[in-house]
Amino acid sequence: MTNSNDNFEADSAVYKTLLESTKAIPWKIDWNTLQFSYIGPQIEQLLGWTPASWVTVEDWASRMHPEDRAWVVDYCVAQSKSGTDHEADYRALTKDGEYVWIRDVVHVVRNAEGMVEALIGFMFDITERKNTEQKLIVLQKELEELSFKDALTGVYNRRMFDSVMEVEWANAKRNHQPLSLLMLDIDYFKQYNDHYGHIHGDECLKLVAKALSNVGTRSRDFFARFGGEEFIVVLPETDAAAANMIAERCRSLIFKAQIPHEKSLVSQILTVSIGVSTIIPAHSDQAIDLIAKVDRQLYQAKEKGRNRIA
Ligand code: GH3
Ligand code: MG
Ligand code: MG
Repeated sequence: MTNSNDNFEADSAVYKTLLESTKAIPWKIDWNTLQFSYIGPQIEQLLGWTPASWVTVEDWASRMHPEDRAWVVDYCVAQSKSGTDHEADYRALTKDGEYVWIRDVVHVVRNAEGMVEALIGFMFDITERKNTEQKLIVLQKELEELSFKDALTGVYNRRMFDSVMEVEWANAKRNHQPLSLLMLDIDYFKQYNDHYGHIHGDECLKLVAKALSNVGTRSRDFFARFGGEEFIVVLPETDAAAANMIAERCRSLIFKAQIPHEKSLVSQILTVSIGVSTIIPAHSDQAIDLIAKVDRQLYQAKEKGRNRIA
């Protein structure tokens, strides 16, 4: 044995040790036969499949999440054929039937004539990173939801009302359909706070919101806290008669809740006044005019003695 051979064998052993002691899992595929000529023994620890069980690219593809398989295989084959280094994230199946997120980083090896000869690569376990990403996406969604919810009562807030109103206004205008609004305001709520205290006032607002949250029965009916002790209901494709019925339902739901209000000047239990307004918007009408109109109706209900619908 020559000296250089000795060196080569010693070097190979070093490289093998290095390759097989990293967390990343090295592998090599012969392009002509599409068979694994090598895969790091670490694969067994990560996925449970022995290195000997990785024979062809079929073994690789079949141990992939069905939702990832088609695009990953197509993409990797296309990139390899064109001789382009590439990487892909996918879920690899473990022997226990679980999935592990893998990032596969692939280098295309060409022979002297420039033909693709082999693929070599590293598989990285990126499960933790993916789980973190997933958690962030969930948090992001929650945050978005929260920004459309009222913090005290948990029902939709004024901001969501503005968005819904914009959409429903445009719909009503386009389809020449009636759009109704109900504006509700608790009667003598200042006295309620003065008598029971603000904490109980807050609890009362929660009870009212809960009682009214399902007052609309159609999928596009919408309920929100408009601000303070005022609530609003948007009723698409609803005429004045139907809107009045929903307003009556609001009053009866509040009545059923039987919230004591000793200092109310109209009743011994909590009551609301409700403004109702309906419009089939003409081309020049503005959503803000309907909101102003329902507000005037509410004022009328207060003027006429509260605990009523106008
Ligand atoms: P009216 O019958 O004319 O509606 O009389 P009112 O006392 O209900 O009307 P007013 O607008 O004078 O008072 C509303 C009160 O609602 C004043 C405010 O302190 C109270 N309020 C508004 N938002 C909140 C809240 O988030 N929590 C509590 N506890 N009270 C609130
Ligand atoms: Mg008010
Ligand atoms: Mg009030």
